[in-house]
Amino acid sequence: MNEAVTIPETQRAGDVASATPFATLGLNEVLVRAIEETGYEMPSPIQSAAIPPLLDGRDVVGQAQTGTGKTAAFALPALQRITVERQQPQILVLTPTRELAIQVAEAMQTYARYFEGFHVLPVYGGQGMDSQLRQLRRGVHAVVGTPGRIQDHIRRGTLNLKTITTVVLDEADEMLRMGFVDEVEAILSHTPAEKQVALFSATMPSAIRKIAQRHLRDPVEIAIKSKSATVSTVRQRYCQVTSRHKLDALTRILEVENFEAMLIFVRTKTLTVELAEKLEARGFSSAPLNGDMAQVLRERTVGRLKSGRIDILVATDVAARGLDVNRISHVVNYDIPYDTEAYIHRIGRTARAGRSGEAIIFVAPRERRMLRSIEKATGKTIDAMPLPSQEDIVDRRVSQFKALITSTIESQDLDSFESVIASYQQIHDADLSEIAAALAFLVQRERPLSPKLPKIPDQKFDDERSSGQKQSNRDRPARGERKSSHDRPGAVKKPEAGMERYRLAVGRDHEVLPKHIVGAIANEAGLDSENIGYIKLYDAFSTVDLPEGMPKDIFQLLRKVRVRGQQLRIELDHRTDAKVDQESTGKTKKPKKPKKPKKPKRTGEKKREKRKESA
Ligand code: AMP
Repeated sequence: MNEAVTIPETQRAGDVASATPFATLGLNEVLVRAIEETGYEMPSPIQSAAIPPLLDGRDVVGQAQTGTGKTAAFALPALQRITVERQQPQILVLTPTRELAIQVAEAMQTYARYFEGFHVLPVYGGQGMDSQLRQLRRGVHAVVGTPGRIQDHIRRGTLNLKTITTVVLDEADEMLRMGFVDEVEAILSHTPAEKQVALFSATMPSAIRKIAQRHLRDPVEIAIKSKSATVSTVRQRYCQVTSRHKLDALTRILEVENFEAMLIFVRTKTLTVELAEKLEARGFSSAPLNGDMAQVLRERTVGRLKSGRIDILVATDVAARGLDVNRISHVVNYDIPYDTEAYIHRIGRTARAGRSGEAIIFVAPRERRMLRSIEKATGKTIDAMPLPSQEDIVDRRVSQFKALITSTIESQDLDSFESVIASYQQIHDADLSEIAAALAFLVQRERPLSPKLPKIPDQKFDDERSSGQKQSNRDRPARGERKSSHDRPGAVKKPEAGMERYRLAVGRDHEVLPKHIVGAIANEAGLDSENIGYIKLYDAFSTVDLPEGMPKDIFQLLRKVRVRGQQLRIELDHRTDAKVDQESTGKTKKPKKPKKPKKPKRTGEKKREKRKESA
């Protein structure tokens, strides 16, 4: 690799003066239109650096992680280079998981929305072969898939890669970790010698560099250099939440956090408007701030925040550039920033004029690596923030309600209302506290003191960072190299909190390695390999720890998956702890006595009883 492009500090998403708009990167009009409609304002750093050389037909090695905008960085130029009239596969993207395959395929479909007749096919295990075969026969332009299933198709002769002109290896280090290197190599050998190859990887271990050396020709190397910065007066917290639950998580935070003004960062112009509208609908007065708004309107919106007429702004990086409002006590990174520079700029919008500030960042499980980079760059640990619970919200609403009573008593002339209550009391011979309770009930109907909140599932797999004790999966040796515990007799341990143990019908007798198990499960269950826990191999079977609460359909699917020709026949490991220990140590342990379940308290009933007694 002889050419390296390190993104200059000044060329960042959000830097109006020096960022390159999509059109000037060389992208054609239909793609630019689609991107703008998607709501992207500015190319992200990796896009600015990778799109021009890829459009020129160069090979590219990009060091980029999820969240940097890498998908568009490779998908846009690849799309521009295909011939839609040719109904043959021209783009091949290999991804480590089916989840990513679907995501990339969806992004491609969005960017190619003005390519008439364009077809992209996501191909992954666990999905019926029939529909894949039908679509392949009909003709597709791009195939995005996991190595295992792509190889299946090659073997069956249902996918011919001879017409491929661009190959993308996405999250190459993750494919390596999952033991897919041989498959990747084999697949590449079926593609024509004359082709463009782009390789993206969050890290560049030597095995990935070797692949790049073998399969890429004179590649342009791109990495985003981030400089460290200190942000001493901002308390930083992160909240692990999947994108589906972000709005509910934000709503809870808005309810319980003591904030004066809040700036919420999102990726797109469209989302600034959507989110502001959704917050309004939930009773939080807020406004969008994006680059599409005329300067006058933007200034007016910022003015409203300054004067306290609104407390929440939902902004893009571009629009919030240089924003200086002392009232901003909180910055919420609703969408994770592209890079650490953008993050540092974002949180610099709080803690102005000698005040302190709060920064909260929403992190999806796949984005945890970016969190680490941010910690490194800011030199500070970002603490885990538990989501406010139902009880927290009730407590908060009740104390606000009480404060409202106090301030009403203090500030309002209530004489005429008092006489209404007095006459009611006389006629009905009612208890004052009962009357007050009825009025309280009426007042809270619009905004119940005890609301029914939408459920947000616990992201149980993320406690290794916050406890600071357990070794991060990322830092462990690659799966293929990881020692299975048969090397350490007696080392059987219980599943970590939030995980449960499953038993698989494959073991050492079937020449199975941990990496095979990881690959199969990650692919079929759409699970990030990080979330696959401890694996132990026995002769005839093995065990694996997976996050609690596996959906039924995935469980059924996994039962049938084959590893080394054997069906996994996964089942919950019902052996008692004693038995597990016995298997490894030969000793027996007394089983624990099961605890007696507590009788639930029925407060309503109790109260009624009490009333009856006093009547
Ligand atoms: P990726 O790193 O490719 O997984 O992208 C992460 C997210 O950023 C996706 O939701 C993209 O839609 C979004 N995204 C990518 N490029 C841009 C851009 N230039 N402006 C705004 N959002 C973007």
